[in-house]
Amino acid sequence: MRNLLFFMSLLICSCSMNREERNEVNLYSQRHYSVDELQYKNFTDKTGIKVNVVKANADELIERLKNEGANSPADLFVTVDAGKLYNARQSGVLQQVPSKAINKDIRKDLLDSDSYWAPITYRSRIIVYSNERVQKSELSTYEDLANPKWKKRLLVRSSSNAYNQALMSSIVANLGSDATEKWSSGIVANFARDPKGSDRDQVKAIAAGQGDLAIVNSYYIGLLLASEKEEEIKAGNSVSVFFPNQGAENRGSHVNISAIGLTKNSPNRENAIKLIEYLTSEEAQKVYVNNSYEYPANSLVQPSEIVKSWGEFKIDKLNLNALGEYRPEAIKIFDKTGWK
Ligand code: FE
Repeated sequence: MRNLLFFMSLLICSCSMNREERNEVNLYSQRHYSVDELQYKNFTDKTGIKVNVVKANADELIERLKNEGANSPADLFVTVDAGKLYNARQSGVLQQVPSKAINKDIRKDLLDSDSYWAPITYRSRIIVYSNERVQKSELSTYEDLANPKWKKRLLVRSSSNAYNQALMSSIVANLGSDATEKWSSGIVANFARDPKGSDRDQVKAIAAGQGDLAIVNSYYIGLLLASEKEEEIKAGNSVSVFFPNQGAENRGSHVNISAIGLTKNSPNRENAIKLIEYLTSEEAQKVYVNNSYEYPANSLVQPSEIVKSWGEFKIDKLNLNALGEYRPEAIKIFDKTGWK
């Protein structure tokens, strides 16, 4: 009996040792930009804390967190879509981020009202148009992209993409389902080709004359212009940036965040908090803007010169969690209206 007790206490001891905080932090990340490696290296150089990253798409990572449960090695869940963070929270795999973890200068309008994630950057889903075939004065709103004047001229990627799903969710939240369904049918009728490729590919298609305007995330224009490939610089220079829905009465351009959630069973919670503090600091925010051309979540940091040259714009102040709440309805509308 004594032996058994001794053996059991050994077991308990070794289990809790496995979950003991180590000098590392484990990320499950949906982000796919080279700037991230640089951020994590800078953080390790500063703190000695090793950063381990598992990259996959957000739905896969949420499944993995659910399956691993209390034994999950993950501390942080990093996404490029508030909708996926909303899903993660609904799935019960997150805990609230303590307010001390988030730099005090982070824009208040980007924060989660329930504190389940910390924003690191934001991006707008904008219109880009051919410098040769479209006049700026012809553009106005997302709604107007359904106008038959754009027939066979509009380029956009497929509806399985989270960026499009977030945009559609914002339109459902703002206009309601019926109006959104009509809008989506109009968009599909204006496609220059069946949806395919990435956001960058839509811009390249404009440069190649396959369409005249496209819906893309803002930072991809920065990435194209800063590219080392001549073809990409040429594509970037063939278009101009337009922020839709800017009129005095209008709601502003759709934005989404890249953000970090703290996992429910984070084994290295203190290190995770340190990394959130670091990534929301002025120092790290400058690294984001100058490498990935995203907008900084920290109000003290300016966007890169390229991004600044597009001017300031009004953002849609819709609660970012609506991008998750309205997602099922958005997906239904894509299917119903034949947006592949
Ligand atoms: Fe992206």
